[in-house]
Amino acid sequence: MEKQGFSTRAVHAGEARDKAGNAVTTPIFQTATYAFRDTHELIEYMEGNIEREEYGRYGNPTQRVVERKLAALDGGEAALLFSTGMCAITTTLLGMLGRGSHIVLTEDGYRRTRQFCRTLLHRLGIECTFVETCNYAALEAAIRPSTRLIFSESPTNPHLRVMDLDKLAEIGRKHNVKIAIDSTFATPFNQRPLDFGIDLVIHSATKYLGGHNDLLAGVVVGSHGLISVIRDMQAMLGGIADPHTAYLLLRGMKTLGLRIRKQNDNGMAVARFLEGHPRVRRVYYPGLSSHPDYKIACEQMKGFGGVVSFEIDGDLQAASTFIDRLQIPYIAPSLGGVETLIEQPALMSYYEMTSEERAAIGISDELIRLSLGVEDADDLIADLDQALSGI
Ligand SMILES: *Cc1c(COP(=O)(O)O)cnc(C)c1O
Repeated sequence: MEKQGFSTRAVHAGEARDKAGNAVTTPIFQTATYAFRDTHELIEYMEGNIEREEYGRYGNPTQRVVERKLAALDGGEAALLFSTGMCAITTTLLGMLGRGSHIVLTEDGYRRTRQFCRTLLHRLGIECTFVETCNYAALEAAIRPSTRLIFSESPTNPHLRVMDLDKLAEIGRKHNVKIAIDSTFATPFNQRPLDFGIDLVIHSATKYLGGHNDLLAGVVVGSHGLISVIRDMQAMLGGIADPHTAYLLLRGMKTLGLRIRKQNDNGMAVARFLEGHPRVRRVYYPGLSSHPDYKIACEQMKGFGGVVSFEIDGDLQAASTFIDRLQIPYIAPSLGGVETLIEQPALMSYYEMTSEERAAIGISDELIRLSLGVEDADDLIADLDQALSGI
């Protein structure tokens, strides 16, 4: 299976050839619990002599297929599905970190992940240090004897910084610290962090993996050993994906290769258009040679993704006017689906901060994040062009 191409695996990996009722698609096992034939079977199961399901919080056959497919796509031994991306992140961190331990994170990233570390982990006696994204000297200097994990996104949200995964893995090995990458923006189509020696990969499956803006889920992929520790934590915390969500995710993932190829193309075309437009001050897209991580992205990624961030030449109001003039994109948080979505981070994720507080973390008032769907690039560009001409 590992030798087959990405889309062959996206369609077939993890699926049983013979399915219930001779179905071609994997059924939704809409059950909360599983019956034992007799006490003998129960004891055989408890002794670990047979593999089967026991209770819905510990697993469901539809979910297992998703997990096997994701493990195959990301090149990991095992995967674990969660109710949301945040649940995958928080359960992983709680599983990996104990009182008195320490985690190093990079600054540019999902706001709720940072909030979780600063509030809840801190309350549990787990310390965190944030370092400038892509500053490897600062990252290495932040490591202490108690450091158990380095956590980063790549590409990051919203500035699309791309981490050097070879370098990160080397730092991890040298200091005997595990490394986790939130690879939501890349997907296993564009990058497989485990191939570089990264220990854990996390995705918000709500985004590209599901791909249709119709479900919430998260996943972590890694070795059997690490995943089993996180699985024990999930069994206590309970953040599982229900069977119907698992089915929708399975359905979405079969077209992952098709969608990402299209979204990579749209990302590149739109980034080039925006960079050449006089009303656009700056474009953040790792496929442009003007991006600080262009070289690393070319070396370590297969494609640059469908998210383009940019600053228009104007203020908060001008950016809003531009967004309101657009006909195709929906104004909405999230990314990675077939519909193009657009947002002004200053008015969405960072609304509660003052302009100065936002500026300190690089979120300017006129910053816009555009998540390209699978519409035709020509139509998207024509729409952006007419909206820019109106500001
Ligand atoms: C959306 C997102 C998350 C959170 O995922 P949910 O499924 O919304 O809980 C985490 N990390 C990144 C990079 C994201 O884009």
